[in-house]
Amino acid sequence: MKNIKLALITLIFLVVNACKVSEPKPPSVITEPEPPTTEVAVIEEKDTVKKITLSPYVNYQSSREHETDLIHTKLAVSFDWEKQYLNGTATLELKPWFYKMSNVTLDAKGFDIHSVKLVEARSKKDLKYDYDNAKLVIDLGRAYSRDENYFVEIKYTAKPNELPKGGSAAITEDKGLYFINADGSDTDKPQQIWTQGETEASSKWFPTIDAPNEKMTQEIYMTVKDEFTTLSNGVLVYSKKNSGGTRTDYWKMDLPHAPYLVMMAVGKFAVVKDSWKSSKGNIPVNYYVEPEYEQYAKAIFGNTPEMMTYFSDLLGYEYVWPKYSQIVVRDYVSGAMENTTASIFMEQLQMTDVELIDGNMEDVIAHELFHHWFGDLVTCESWSNLPLNESFADYSEYLWQEYKLGVDAADYHNQVGMDGYLAESQEKQVDMIRFEYNSQEDMFDAHSYSKGGRILHMLRKYVGDDAFFASLQHYLKKNEFKSVEIHDLRIAFEAITGEDLNWFFSQWFLSAGHPIIDVKHSYKEGVLTVDVAQLQNIENTPVYKLPLKIDVWASDKLTSYPVVIQATEEKFEFAMAEKPQLVLFDGDQQLLGVINHPKSLEENIYQYYNSGKFLSRYNALENMMSDTTAVNKIQEVFANALDDPFWVIRDEALNMFENYEGDFKDDIVAKIKKMATDDKKSLVRATAVEVLSSIVGADAGDVMAKAIEDKSNTVKGAALGALLRTEGAEKDKIIAKYQDSDDVQIISTLAVYFAEEEDYSKNDWFLKSIEVLKGPDLYYYLQSYAALLTKAPMEATTKAAPKLIDMARNASMDFIRLAAYGCLNAIPETEELKATKLDIRANETSERLKRYYSQMGG
Ligand SMILES: [Zn+2]
Repeated sequence: MKNIKLALITLIFLVVNACKVSEPKPPSVITEPEPPTTEVAVIEEKDTVKKITLSPYVNYQSSREHETDLIHTKLAVSFDWEKQYLNGTATLELKPWFYKMSNVTLDAKGFDIHSVKLVEARSKKDLKYDYDNAKLVIDLGRAYSRDENYFVEIKYTAKPNELPKGGSAAITEDKGLYFINADGSDTDKPQQIWTQGETEASSKWFPTIDAPNEKMTQEIYMTVKDEFTTLSNGVLVYSKKNSGGTRTDYWKMDLPHAPYLVMMAVGKFAVVKDSWKSSKGNIPVNYYVEPEYEQYAKAIFGNTPEMMTYFSDLLGYEYVWPKYSQIVVRDYVSGAMENTTASIFMEQLQMTDVELIDGNMEDVIAHELFHHWFGDLVTCESWSNLPLNESFADYSEYLWQEYKLGVDAADYHNQVGMDGYLAESQEKQVDMIRFEYNSQEDMFDAHSYSKGGRILHMLRKYVGDDAFFASLQHYLKKNEFKSVEIHDLRIAFEAITGEDLNWFFSQWFLSAGHPIIDVKHSYKEGVLTVDVAQLQNIENTPVYKLPLKIDVWASDKLTSYPVVIQATEEKFEFAMAEKPQLVLFDGDQQLLGVINHPKSLEENIYQYYNSGKFLSRYNALENMMSDTTAVNKIQEVFANALDDPFWVIRDEALNMFENYEGDFKDDIVAKIKKMATDDKKSLVRATAVEVLSSIVGADAGDVMAKAIEDKSNTVKGAALGALLRTEGAEKDKIIAKYQDSDDVQIISTLAVYFAEEEDYSKNDWFLKSIEVLKGPDLYYYLQSYAALLTKAPMEATTKAAPKLIDMARNASMDFIRLAAYGCLNAIPETEELKATKLDIRANETSERLKRYYSQMGG
């Protein structure tokens, strides 16, 4: 699953701090409650208290015990849109795992069970069963041995809306089966049905053994109104029209996978066909989007076949499944999900050609595709081992960027992931492989994703590319169609490299925290001394063994010294004829952790020009920003950095020139003007527009006039903001021209401006525009609206309240509910509103938000 929300929350957390936007802050990261202690007090006779220590396995979250093996699932389903029910017949092929069994226990949550039968060659026989609304225990009538397969048929009705709500930070709900706009009353929204199985919600729409260490093949017969398209795992064998305007689609999946990967979708979709050339011939690659996005589907998803080739080649293991479809649905409860051969995506994937100019979603596309090796083919055996799915999917984003956009872009992505983990680590530091979580949903955090991706990157740098990918190939081949735990990965790497890698896996996957390192270097009498100290708290974090390189430049020549750090304090000495120009700790810039290494201005300048890597260049600029000693020298470096080949560096350098009044101002302005219109990256053009406006204001009129006609909406938005802030501009005319735009960037810019101006006459505009925005754009928009509402007249707040209350209760993303609640907080509180807010808080289902509300108090 692509935990887009986690990424967004982390992003929002970082950006909120950066922009100094005040309340409502989203919850950043919340400390997990301590696992229960293994010491219990037992009160004995005569009031003496005796302490008893329990085995550590009392609270251990084990993988699901195999009593029965599920071999095959055949489903026939139809839908009751009015009641939002699924009527199903499930025929399961099962057998005892090892021991003789005379019953079978299935997960079946919140069903009406109509009948349970044993299916034999020529007859069906009713079976006795017990059902407690979660587990269906079927009495088989006699004991079966492990070489006896048997078939059970269950007729049932699934009622997903009548289940108690759950969910997590990653998945906002866990109903399993979702009806969207079921009664058709929302004219702006298509009618859809889709499913979300991970973690254990597939058993909310079909009876199964709902555990990641179970694997089965499947068939699904879906009966729908003929106007709808369907999608499920595997291949569409046939479609058959029925009487009464319905059609039955028969989907078949011949390769085994875990029940949480089973999916269905129903709706009116445009299906854009593509294909991928495998060694066995062409396999279908299809993109399912809403009809109005049909023309953009190839622009959004069109690199998928190239990605399939790249990942197949890199892993030495060809994409094994019979097709690959990707579908975008409404009101999805996560970012995306790697259902085998049929990945599902949130609606933010639907972008126009114009929106794609500012950035695509190929990270998410790569992530779900890579899961088809790591997750779908080889599956974590328990949620405790989730990093075996998510760390790899996360790292695929690096791999794809490295191949498609270059190593700078990938390294930047690496750093964004690291920042996400470090933000989470402020309040939560846990083992990657965790056996004592409170809820399996807690596993979907920045540890399992971002930290895991960075750990795999370090492993790759340590063993080298050849060994890394050979080890992955070995791991995939050895464990294909099976489930794994972390040791399987270690053993695969050990088999290929020949090295005992317990040290690496123990400190990174089986321990909490990260290194915090102080580095100092000095040169005296022909000797370079590098002092390294590990400063992390070693009571709960390891003293790390860190093989890395110390790169040293002298006489403009680079020498790389491999060292192994394995103590809290170490000293390295290198004989050197002259004083080095630069000492760069961790030459590969691969270490997960915090490094503090003070350098002189000359060293930072040298590092920017000579170290080559994205991170070392970026850090050199960062280090110089706070240096006030030699302003001219620093400005020269930043002026040169405006020509850096990588856009993030150019963007960073531009920010340095905000309100610039220093030397060579005319040259700098001329340069930034050119960037505002000509830079090949739209985000850099947008920054250039903003920075230019801060330096010369109205004098940049010609550039702004051009920028507001830019193809990119981000550049347009930046130019609009700059124009509105320019003295003497005809603001009413500008606003009149743009306020009916449904472009996200334009709306966001206007929202910030109206809030700053306290323009309450725009209240209706705010309420109308809410409908246009989604995801993080909506989150920021609601922040602007909250600012406006803070001092707004009663008339405006009264009008706004019903919409905001509805969003605070019902928005599908929890951070949107939070932002809407923040708007309500900005409104003067009547008794009625106070009661409503209390009720909203009481009915919140997201654990993250509940904890945040309780921290807010009141
Ligand atoms: Zn994932």
